[in-house]
Amino acid sequence: MIKIEPIKAFSDNYIWLVTTNEGLLVVDPGDSEPVDAYLTINKKQLSNILITHHHFDHTGGVKKLVNNSSLDVYGPTASIFDGINKELKDGDQVNIIGIDFTIIEIPGHTLDHIAYFAENDGEPFLFCGDTLFAGGCGRIFEGTYLQMYESLNKLKKLPLNTKVYCGHEYTLANLTFALEVEHSNQALKDRYESCVNLRNNDQPTIPSLLELEIQTNPFLRSDQKIIRECIMQKFDYKEEPSDIEIFKAVREWKDNT
Ligand code: ZN
Ligand code: FE
Repeated sequence: MIKIEPIKAFSDNYIWLVTTNEGLLVVDPGDSEPVDAYLTINKKQLSNILITHHHFDHTGGVKKLVNNSSLDVYGPTASIFDGINKELKDGDQVNIIGIDFTIIEIPGHTLDHIAYFAENDGEPFLFCGDTLFAGGCGRIFEGTYLQMYESLNKLKKLPLNTKVYCGHEYTLANLTFALEVEHSNQALKDRYESCVNLRNNDQPTIPSLLELEIQTNPFLRSDQKIIRECIMQKFDYKEEPSDIEIFKAVREWKDNT
């Protein structure tokens, strides 16, 4: 039995807490305090830490949580974050608290970014940090547009019923932008309504389903005619752009909103 819960941190970060009968791990603890509070209240001990990328809002709590113990901290190889002692690279398979994870390198937001995918007997889930957001994708800080595009395409090929756990509650802003790109998409309108309801009740909009992302997230839809037409019209293209050019135009548009 695997239980996944959010711990809120800072203004909009989620630290994902995963419990199995073999232990307890957290993904991307940017702050140690809310994790410590949970552990104290629930009289639990941390078994492992998983890191998706080096940004401080995902790693800032690691050293306090480790606190000179021998706790395993999994994360990308060659990361500029120096608190990782179990380095992972693309294609690695690793069992952590009884969960079989496959590692997928997804550079773009940062160069070291990785995702953790678990098949989990037909109930798959993914921790993807700041790469694929609910309704959006991360900003491209270190990589190229092509890298980000290819990273998202890797995630797009995972099973459609994969539950997607990202690192921030950015969903409403993302979907508001998505509606500007694609106002006639009914699945997107429905998703927006249901996310507004969740947020009005202070509920997370995450996880989402990969299938819904493919139907509604403009950053996974560069190959769709409707997105292409919107971008060609808005930016006055004279010639047919490639899918990657469409992706870049959508990302730059979002950056400037
Ligand atoms: Zn980040
Ligand atoms: Fe972040």
